[in-house]
Amino acid sequence: MLFMDFAKTCERLEDTAGRLDMIGIISQELTGLSEEELPVFVRFVMGRIFPDWNSRKLGIGPNILYDAVRSVAGVRKTAVVDRLNKTGDIGRTVEELLLVKTQTSLSYTELDLLDVYYKLVSISSREGEASQREKMRTAMQLLGDARPLEGRYLARIMLEELRIGVGEGSVREAIAKAFNVDSALVEHAMQALNDMGEVARLAKIGPDALKDVRITPFHPVRMMLAQQGAIADMIEEHGQIAAEFKYDGSRFQFHKKGNWARLYSRRLEDVTAALPDVISQLLSATEQDVILDGEVIAIKDGKPMPFQSVLRRFRRRHDVAEAQEAIEMVPNVFDILYLDGETLIDLPFSVRRKRLEGAVTRYIAPQIVSGEQAEIEKTYDAALAAGHEGIMIKVPSSPYTPGQRGKNWIKIKPEVDTLDLAVIGAEWGEGKRAHVFGSFLVACQDQGRLVPISRVATGFSDEQLAEVFEMLKESVIKTEGKEVTFEPSLVFEVGYAELQASQNYKGGFTLRFPRFIRIRDDKDLADIETIEGIRARYQRQANSAQAYQK
Ligand code: AMP
Repeated sequence: MLFMDFAKTCERLEDTAGRLDMIGIISQELTGLSEEELPVFVRFVMGRIFPDWNSRKLGIGPNILYDAVRSVAGVRKTAVVDRLNKTGDIGRTVEELLLVKTQTSLSYTELDLLDVYYKLVSISSREGEASQREKMRTAMQLLGDARPLEGRYLARIMLEELRIGVGEGSVREAIAKAFNVDSALVEHAMQALNDMGEVARLAKIGPDALKDVRITPFHPVRMMLAQQGAIADMIEEHGQIAAEFKYDGSRFQFHKKGNWARLYSRRLEDVTAALPDVISQLLSATEQDVILDGEVIAIKDGKPMPFQSVLRRFRRRHDVAEAQEAIEMVPNVFDILYLDGETLIDLPFSVRRKRLEGAVTRYIAPQIVSGEQAEIEKTYDAALAAGHEGIMIKVPSSPYTPGQRGKNWIKIKPEVDTLDLAVIGAEWGEGKRAHVFGSFLVACQDQGRLVPISRVATGFSDEQLAEVFEMLKESVIKTEGKEVTFEPSLVFEVGYAELQASQNYKGGFTLRFPRFIRIRDDKDLADIETIEGIRARYQRQANSAQAYQK
């Protein structure tokens, strides 16, 4: 497939609003692709380069891209900045600048989809200063060969953010349609393989290939997630339910095969090097090949420490040995997904639990199974008294569904007035804070779209502002006076006194007395609060105010 054909498909998709039409366009393209092109096309059309299980990043930030397009188009930096401020979109900016190039250059090399892919893969594994030059060279080479429309999508792929509105659901349906297989089968294969590209390749072979998928050690699967709910409803619906403490630490997935083991974070990053103590604890607990799901907490004087201390350890790159001594980490294992070559996710939770108890000798999270509300409530009280966040209720007959926030895992915890929100913009600080961002625009999501909800300017220490600045400075895509706009990636937990209806924000709500609580870099944009969630909270707030007035 020529990259130009891919770019034209993206353009059509970008101009298409209806989901069914989008699915039609993608599925038509899928049928004409070779076995080698298929996975690449599927990942590219979702704005990805690598399989989801692979946390490898290309490592090309907006700045490298601006420099590359600037030298290819032969324009000054100000020309890039001006256009960027006008379009607010890197892809369109690159496209416009390549139009300038087109007027002066005579020949092109046709870009091929697979060539682009292999070039990008080859630079992603490099590290260090030389790698920056290498990345710049490759970006210039690719943009040098690109026509304007190709440039639009090349730039966005290099930043791994395609913005054409194609979600995983549409690609799943398109694969099912193209190869005439059941979409539930496609979804199930995706859960085990965590790579839609590979799933498409198998779908082309046929339904049997899709049915036969297995989890592979060291290809982490997405974490199963929880919803809010009530104990009584769960008992009414399921009779017996399982209850465990809800630990306030960081999620992990532990993979072990032979004497090789790795630990992955909730975002599936490999955090093995930062947590050697947890690895050796888990290695001491099992002889078998396993994939375990759990939560690691930090303990001091027998009590769980604030979640922030755990996150700090997950982020640690240097002086890991010192950090280990300062704080004791304890893994709590609550699920098993793989055992000695067998994929277990489709087994009922109660059966998985038995397999877990048979394979692992220590660190298993205690559990009770009961149909008595009073007994479950006792566990909830005990959890809070021991300093945990609350409890998790799980349905004993349920499978493990990677990546899904279903009704089989329910979290019960005291309602707190904080929200996880995406940081989408900021304003430069003033006075002694003039060199960092001082206040931030944060957003919730409405079916994948970001909806601004508040500005947050309080609650930060100077250190935190400096830390946040370091994390965000490479993500600025637009500057207007003192205001900057980010390519969103960072999540803040934000506290508030009250939700207010507001005309000033498109979503219809804003926060009263918003304050920064903490960075949630264990969370992705997909994890932030939804507008429906906020509406429901607003309703609960109104109900309790009414009750108070009566
Ligand atoms: P939340 O982040 O509030 O949506 O709650 C779900 C998170 O609770 C999971 O992603 C885990 O990180 C964490 N957690 C703590 N204890 C448990 C447990 N026993 N079972 C499942 N998840 C747990």
